[in-house]
Amino acid sequence: VNVINEAGALPTKNFRMGKFDGAEKISGETLAANIEKRGGKTKHGCHTGCIIQCSQVYHDKDGKYLTTGFEYETIWGFGADLLVDNLDDIANMDRTCDEAGMDTIEMANTMAMAMEAGIIAWGDGKGVLAELAKVGTKDPLGRIYGNGTAYTAQAFGVDRVPVVKNQALPAYDPRAVKGVGVTYATTPMGADHTAGYGVCQNVLKCGGDVDGHKKEGNIEISKNLQVATAAVDSLGLCLFVAFAVLDDARGVPCMAKLVSGLIGKDYSVDELVGMGVNCLKDELDFNKRAGFTDADDQLPRFFQTELLPPHNVGWDYTAEELQAAKV
Ligand code: SF4
Repeated sequence: VNVINEAGALPTKNFRMGKFDGAEKISGETLAANIEKRGGKTKHGCHTGCIIQCSQVYHDKDGKYLTTGFEYETIWGFGADLLVDNLDDIANMDRTCDEAGMDTIEMANTMAMAMEAGIIAWGDGKGVLAELAKVGTKDPLGRIYGNGTAYTAQAFGVDRVPVVKNQALPAYDPRAVKGVGVTYATTPMGADHTAGYGVCQNVLKCGGDVDGHKKEGNIEISKNLQVATAAVDSLGLCLFVAFAVLDDARGVPCMAKLVSGLIGKDYSVDELVGMGVNCLKDELDFNKRAGFTDADDQLPRFFQTELLPPHNVGWDYTAEELQAAKV
């Protein structure tokens, strides 16, 4: 949270600002301090053998288990994007979503639509918990929320709707991190940061250094990342291996060697890249047959008309320009 907030790219109050005054209270540092105090685990693997262990176990104030896999996107969505700065309320929202099988990015943006519509006040964490609890019941509002961000916005007449291909945007403002913004607009998945994580080159300076505020170079990095990600996903590897692979020139050849070892014959880097390209081509073909056109490869209009403070960066790619990010 603190890193992206300092970069001015933490979407705040439904993508109105890039910095949140309450960032410190919902930061990874605060989360770790709470775990140290209350018990739980700061590192936790989702399967035996993972040496990264990106997950954790989070307890409440009384030291009782509250949630796990309490990660950045969830904390951003129910936190900065809704102006909620109480980490325990956000942990309860995460738990509610886990219990009902709801995606936290989609539901956080859905709650932002409820705030835009005046059903919940901005910053009211307890109000969010009360509304989330309605999903999965016969409550009419719960039935609307359960259909996600775009549906909820339509039901309430909200026109500032952060979705691409009806999938809600994640935790990096595309105007300040254009490498991932191009991915949101063009990936066949809809607004999916994991499909081409340009945050690496724009903010973390991992696998290259491209200015996230300018257009130059960001279509290219998004396209390359989308291909690499499709290859990693197709291999069944956790996407977090991509950081290591991107940061070392031996990374991609090493992945090709892993495949060689598995299938018992030579497998080249070109074949690995080709697998990523073919995977994306299949997905794009699926979308085309489902009725999507090039005009759907664009961010919602408000990103094109509003500048993002504090760096006052905008979004002026045309849908035609963005086609270059597709295979
Ligand atoms: S998501 Fe990936 S990095 Fe995180 S615990 Fe699971 S395998 Fe490890």
